[in-house]
Amino acid sequence: VTTRVDVAVVGGGVVGAAVARRLARTPCSVALLEGGDIGAGTSKANTAILHTGFDTTPGTAEAELVRRGYELLARYAPSAGIALEATGALLVAWSDEQADALPAIAEAAAAVGYDRCELVDASECYRREPALGPGAVRGLVVPDEQIICPWTPPLAYATESIANGGAVHRRAPLDAAERRGDSWRLRAGELELDAGWVVNAAGLRADEVEELLGHPPRFTVTPRRGQLVVFDKLARELVREIILPVPSARTKGVLVTPTVYGNVMVGPTAEDLDDKDDTACTAEGLAALLVEAHRLVPALTSEDVTATYAGVRAATEERDYRLLVNTDDASICLAGIRSTGLTASLALAEWVAGRLRDHGIDVAERDDAVGVRLPDLGEASVRPYQDAERIAADGAYGAIVCHCERVTAGELRDACQGPLPAFDLDGLRRRTRAMTGRCQGFWCSAELVSRLRDATGTSGATTGLGPAGAAHR
Ligand SMILES: Cc1cc2nc3c(=O)[nH]c(=O)nc-3n(C[C@H](O)[C@H](O)[C@H](O)COP(=O)(O)OP(=O)(O)OC[C@H]3O[C@@H](n4cnc5c(N)ncnc54)[C@H](O)[C@@H]3O)c2cc1C
Repeated sequence: VTTRVDVAVVGGGVVGAAVARRLARTPCSVALLEGGDIGAGTSKANTAILHTGFDTTPGTAEAELVRRGYELLARYAPSAGIALEATGALLVAWSDEQADALPAIAEAAAAVGYDRCELVDASECYRREPALGPGAVRGLVVPDEQIICPWTPPLAYATESIANGGAVHRRAPLDAAERRGDSWRLRAGELELDAGWVVNAAGLRADEVEELLGHPPRFTVTPRRGQLVVFDKLARELVREIILPVPSARTKGVLVTPTVYGNVMVGPTAEDLDDKDDTACTAEGLAALLVEAHRLVPALTSEDVTATYAGVRAATEERDYRLLVNTDDASICLAGIRSTGLTASLALAEWVAGRLRDHGIDVAERDDAVGVRLPDLGEASVRPYQDAERIAADGAYGAIVCHCERVTAGELRDACQGPLPAFDLDGLRRRTRAMTGRCQGFWCSAELVSRLRDATGTSGATTGLGPAGAAHR
């Protein structure tokens, strides 16, 4: 029997999962089709900043949706167990020319609705960030920039979609789509589904999904890789807030940021590639980041590097999101969500709901819609191994398996259960932090494979254990 839903969302990254969450809270029926695991694409490998949008371009969809998305996600995160820290940011000018550009950046921020930037002199920069490298001329404080856990949001959105009656199909890559009367007939492997509307949220593959839907090419996704270096937790004291460079026309540049897991990161690079799957780090890219790290916070380069990883931005020909509604065949495309999709995710979902409402679909939130709460992975939260009451009730939360990140047997067990259980090591990592610490799984990965196999019946060979899995967070 072919199931019919009002809306099928293709792509379970942070954007598609946010859309599935929003629509599941309404009278609409919704199905999310994801080729792999939820949040395992670009959404797992970014800089993890909740942007105020102070540096977005006025008049763009991105400016509007980042601003709105910031408000929505900052409000949503605490209830859903998404770690968030209000660190603020300091944009540092390293030359007189850059210093002269700061007032214009503050004015441009006000033009997109963010008027809390504050110019500070060099001594204030060093007071705020004592480990800052020599030569800072002036600074611009952006007090509301925040750091956020990038792994939990897509999982929380998809879990909430299920809790409200939505269907989430993982390992279900859309491979055929055909318009039949007033419906779409979609095929994803074994799965066949009819849908009133289709929302294309396939990230790097949004142009390919457009082709599957039979649309003429309206844009091409150009992968733009960003490599990052993660420093050990001992480096955390060196950096109190996000340290930003003065942006250029092409890129926001390399920044230094604390993470909610208690590390410090430097990156990202910006490299245009041909291969959408090329998440490799290169000796050249990492060397360039270490030079920048040394210039920005010299003491950082005496600290150990815990990990390196790369994410790939879905850039298109335009410097704005490509949000396209096709009324003729009932489809919506969310493409070109390059560097701000985590922040904008809930606003993009709201935007989709608005377009469906324009077409007579009831997208009012139901009174009985429920929320969900996932485990908070943040270092600032009380982790299960620190929670005596929880351990007393269930000893598995006192049994540490990943010693670097202090992840317990109870958390690993939970991650293999529930509506969206991990089915590989990467999934276990994003749900618990296991293997993301100093030893990168050297100590615990064999144990994790065994637990995963016992919990899910997955064979060790398909758990994703390998050099690539270990290198990319
Ligand atoms: C280096 C870097 C730094 C960044 N920093 C930040 C930041 O600090 N703050 C911020 O807000 N944003 C940041 N971003 C941007 C943010 O990560 C992205 O905008 C966001 O993750 C995009 O989400 P998405 O859902 O569109 O794409 P993805 O996460 O890539 O999801 C798309 C999904 O579609 C699936 N898919 C593809 N084809 C099919 C198919 N045929 N059928 C079914 N499923 C399919 C894929 O498997 C994938 O899971 C950064 C990005 C990068 C690369």
